[in-house]
Amino acid sequence: MNILFIGPPGSGKGTQSKRLQDRYGLVHLSTGDMFREAIARQTPVGLKAKGFMDRGEYVPDSVVIDLIRDRLSAPDCQNGFILDGFPRTEPQAEALDGLLSGMGLKLDAIFQFDVAKPVLVERLSSRRVCRACGQTVSQEQVGAAGAVCPKSSANPCDFYQRSDDAPEVVGRRIEVYETQTAPIVGFYSRKPGFLKVDADQHPDSVYGVLERALGPA
Ligand code: AMP
Repeated sequence: MNILFIGPPGSGKGTQSKRLQDRYGLVHLSTGDMFREAIARQTPVGLKAKGFMDRGEYVPDSVVIDLIRDRLSAPDCQNGFILDGFPRTEPQAEALDGLLSGMGLKLDAIFQFDVAKPVLVERLSSRRVCRACGQTVSQEQVGAAGAVCPKSSANPCDFYQRSDDAPEVVGRRIEVYETQTAPIVGFYSRKPGFLKVDADQHPDSVYGVLERALGPA
């Protein structure tokens, strides 16, 4: 099963990806996570991406498309994947179509995550991520959550704020989504398997909607 999540930053795509990957045995393909890893390892891709990410801008299409082409052709993707954060522009959507048809694959479900803008700003500004396990919580939950980190069970989660979740960058990221990514929603809404999801709801309710749409594993 191959799934595409499309939605603005802070709409819960990452949270739902983590849940669905376990439920359906899928690979979570987050281009944002791939870039953060590349930056941490100081690879050439990471060095190219960093400045764009820090400003809340998109990394150039050619860099993202090369990255996803390599990743999609890896053997673990053949059992199904969740695309989270790709494609974000028209050329990326066209490239994905070409890549999938070249591999004899298709998208089985396309979910658009719909969230009101003030909710996004609030969620992104208070978002904290564990460096080890990637778990995301709001600032208020940091004390209560992550007492034992699933990735380093001897320690608690090590929560930090992503540099692009800083209040001065958040507005720009939402603006870039509205100008560059919102236009491709129309293209996907005409494809089979498309569903617009009210992602203002509690994550458990959003998960319920996705699970009902996808059916049994
Ligand atoms: P995310 O973690 O999905 O919010 O992505 C974080 C940042 O990575 C974005 O703000 C972009 O700078 C960059 N990025 C991730 N995916 C893409 C993409 N498909 N196209 C361009 N830039 C991307």
